[in-house]
Amino acid sequence: MTGRARITSLDTNVTPSTAELRTLFNGRVIVPGDPAYDKARTVFYGGIDRRPAAIVRVADAGDVSRLVSLARENGLVLAVRSGGHSAAGHSSTDGGVVLDVSSLKALDIDARNRTAWAETGLTAGEYTHAANTYGLATGFGDTGTVGIGGLTLGGGVGYLVRKYGLTIDDLLAAEIVTADGQLRHVDAETHPDLFWAVRGGGGNFGVATRFQFRLHEVATIFGGMLVLPASPTTIASFIAEAEAAPDELSTIANVMTAPPMPFLPAEVHGKPVIMAMLVYTGAVEAGEGAVAPFRVLATPYVDMLHPMSYPEIYQEEQGEYHPVAAGRTMFVDSIDLSAAETILDHLTASTGSMAVAQLRVLGGAMAQVPADATAFAHRAARIMVNVAALYEKLDEKPVHEAWVTNFAAALHQENNGVYVNFLGDEGQERLRNAYPGETWKRLAAIKARYDPTNLFRLNQNIPPAQEIK
Ligand SMILES: Cc1cc2nc3c(=O)[nH]c(=O)nc-3n(C[C@H](O)[C@H](O)[C@H](O)COP(=O)(O)OP(=O)(O)OC[C@H]3O[C@@H](n4cnc5c(N)ncnc54)[C@H](O)[C@@H]3O)c2cc1C
Repeated sequence: MTGRARITSLDTNVTPSTAELRTLFNGRVIVPGDPAYDKARTVFYGGIDRRPAAIVRVADAGDVSRLVSLARENGLVLAVRSGGHSAAGHSSTDGGVVLDVSSLKALDIDARNRTAWAETGLTAGEYTHAANTYGLATGFGDTGTVGIGGLTLGGGVGYLVRKYGLTIDDLLAAEIVTADGQLRHVDAETHPDLFWAVRGGGGNFGVATRFQFRLHEVATIFGGMLVLPASPTTIASFIAEAEAAPDELSTIANVMTAPPMPFLPAEVHGKPVIMAMLVYTGAVEAGEGAVAPFRVLATPYVDMLHPMSYPEIYQEEQGEYHPVAAGRTMFVDSIDLSAAETILDHLTASTGSMAVAQLRVLGGAMAQVPADATAFAHRAARIMVNVAALYEKLDEKPVHEAWVTNFAAALHQENNGVYVNFLGDEGQERLRNAYPGETWKRLAAIKARYDPTNLFRLNQNIPPAQEIK
């Protein structure tokens, strides 16, 4: 293909030809018309159907640097993609260029020192499986297909959150190509401002090519799935038990109408359930003790809690699964009987193909880090709630958006904070709530230093300080 790629340019008319692009990069350049194009432009969420002018699957940090410079010099619209799970659709673009790091999958584990250098195209599942061969783990999120790129830069809340904190609490260093095209090593001593910013500030500061993580001894865990009938009492009690549990136990409670899944008895399908995931990191007997109170909240529909290797917690990947979703995220201080009733009422009223309220009790190691130590400021948040409706017909979007908006308003308590990685395209006020007060000011100042023209703007964007009126 030799034609000119019609790349959307912010302020110039320069349009590099496809042939020019192909000579520039070691990695693959995919453009409209290529057989691989449709698959390559597909992101996790359905309903996001953007058509980039080119997707560059970078092969190394040199490619990243060249593409960043090309984009800066020619005013190209640039999207950065790792695992493609952005709910806001930030990792694709209509007419711009996608810098896709998904081929960067090197993982260098130093088992003796319990550290790993991981390229940012790895998914949480890939990293977790590889680290487990050494009996080691770093905590990511609840889903194996999520990219460690986006997840880490936003914070990272997962199954080890109460025991070992956020993913960024295990981030020791990063390599990042900033807007000037330079590959920089950042850690607590080198560019400490940038190191602070990339721990929670998202993709605003450059393209991360590698992360160095701390690893923990987590060979086996006690946990898995527990499905309980959902009533106001079981929901509120579940949360009370999760708060009272030792830090070794992290839980995710999905309150939902039971889907027709093969592991659920047919008579349960359609009933309100708590489909919970529990992970206890420590000795098996202690784990059994820690999950015991959950098992007796009601007679479980399904009890799959058992000792397992840690990666088993990531369920089978579902191939081409691209749900369309409306979602809202928030933090709350408590889930009492009345909040639990609100949850059940709203779930019942949803007309989506699936509706869920996901409740994650936080605290533990995550709360022990000072709020200003990283760009993730919500250390004191007690419970994260994500409400979502999945649906099939795109024209039903207004109905499901209204439903999540009302649901979130009904559950809202004092905390206006937001975890940036679960934020959709929800406007400036919500984004400011992800980075309250001084955090925003500090991030905007660092952005002005490293990305003064806001090249990295297709993200939960923090404009450089001088742009703020
Ligand atoms: C099914 C599902 C489950 C999830 N579960 C959890 C969870 O348990 N815990 C949790 O914390 N989060 C969770 N998330 C949210 C997830 O962390 C964010 O959506 C995250 O941004 C996804 O990262 P990604 O690399 O897959 O996405 P992408 O869409 O590829 O990237 C998202 C954004 O991150 C930035 N980015 C990505 N890679 C790089 C890079 N290498 N350099 C610079 N910027 C980059 C870009 O701005 C990009 O727009 C979940 C999301 C989904 C869809």
